[in-house]
Amino acid sequence: MTRKQLMISMSDLPYHLGLKMRIYPSSQQKKIIAINCGVSRSVYNKLIAINSELMQLRKTGIYIKTIAERIETLELRKKNLSKYYSYMSVKEVDSLTIAQAKLNYNAAWSMFKKIHSSGVPKYHKKGVSDSYQTSCIYTTDNKKKGNCTPFTGSVRFLDTKHVQLPKLGRIRISGSSYQKILAHNPNFRIGTATIKCDASGYYLSLQIGDVVPFVNLKPKAGKVTGIDLNTDNFLTDSYGNIVDNPRYYRKSLKRLKKLQRQMARRQVRAKKEGRKLAESRNYQKSRLQAARLHQHVKNQRENFLQKLSTAYINNHDVVVLEDLRGKNLMKNHALAMSIADVGWSNFQKMLEYKAGLYGKKYIEIDKCNTTQRCSNCGSIMGHNGYPKLTLKDREWNCPICKVHHIRDYNAALNILEKGIAKLEEEEKTIIPYKN
Ligand SMILES: [Zn+2]
Repeated sequence: MTRKQLMISMSDLPYHLGLKMRIYPSSQQKKIIAINCGVSRSVYNKLIAINSELMQLRKTGIYIKTIAERIETLELRKKNLSKYYSYMSVKEVDSLTIAQAKLNYNAAWSMFKKIHSSGVPKYHKKGVSDSYQTSCIYTTDNKKKGNCTPFTGSVRFLDTKHVQLPKLGRIRISGSSYQKILAHNPNFRIGTATIKCDASGYYLSLQIGDVVPFVNLKPKAGKVTGIDLNTDNFLTDSYGNIVDNPRYYRKSLKRLKKLQRQMARRQVRAKKEGRKLAESRNYQKSRLQAARLHQHVKNQRENFLQKLSTAYINNHDVVVLEDLRGKNLMKNHALAMSIADVGWSNFQKMLEYKAGLYGKKYIEIDKCNTTQRCSNCGSIMGHNGYPKLTLKDREWNCPICKVHHIRDYNAALNILEKGIAKLEEEEKTIIPYKN
């Protein structure tokens, strides 16, 4: 297929990537960003409020005139929010901000209908971190000519140091990843753009698509591995490598608690002296410090996970992990903090994404018996009168074949074996592997 034929929409393109860069808005641009973040949050929250009222009204099952009229009013309002709320149609607001917030709400709603456990969409709170989305629009003429590039849409690169954004205009950017991509794929199409601000600054994320891959596929490594995620260390793989849990959150906990006590003290003092919190300079100072520390911990964790997942994808052709959804570990409070700290599910997402990007395989298997099974002879503890292993049994001997096992390493071997079996079934071929 030619580029022209494929330039119809983002979803028609075979390769997608997220690009993130820092942006440096002027104070005027910061104001416009704040307005759009506010409108985006408000649209989302108004839709929640309207829909929950509609749900209540319909539940009554009573068809009297006032209820029918109210339903009609709400339905109309839902369709045309900016007509009812004038602040949504001020000139600084990007009309696509509203459309995108509606899309996000609808996605959350259909997710709720699919998986009830996630709960109805929740109100977005105003916080330290705020964002809104818009999308890149190409003119019909450009679409016809197949001229949808990083330089021709409503969201576009002006040069290697600046972007143009709707309502905001020209903004300076920095970063290295977008420059590499621009050099490698000079003709990609831009889809959704997210403008975000948090304690550390302002960011722009672009969803981009192309007919050709964004990266060179990684060469075959000739190695496969199974990974056991556990709470003693971050992971153990089927080569016996152990990666320790960095516990960034715990390392910063002392300082975080100190800042929280300071905030509480300053809040009390401001109240005593009759000052508003927003005007209490010392309180705001420690609040900002706490937010920065949270961000710092988040960045450290993200960095660790990015590096580790890249290393695993570079050095292996197949990476197998357990499906964590069945693991239920969060219910155990003693484990909850360390799990929140290690970010396993983020690690899985990164592996999956990078495997797809670089032409490697990421496989998730059912965790059933990966710990209790002897990887040497295949017998399963807890069966045939043999005791089940508990969390305390870090090492054990197989009562049948007498092989000595280290719990996590044995699990990793089982995970690999299951993953390879799954892959062989999917691809209808035998995969030779040695560990
Ligand atoms: Zn055995």
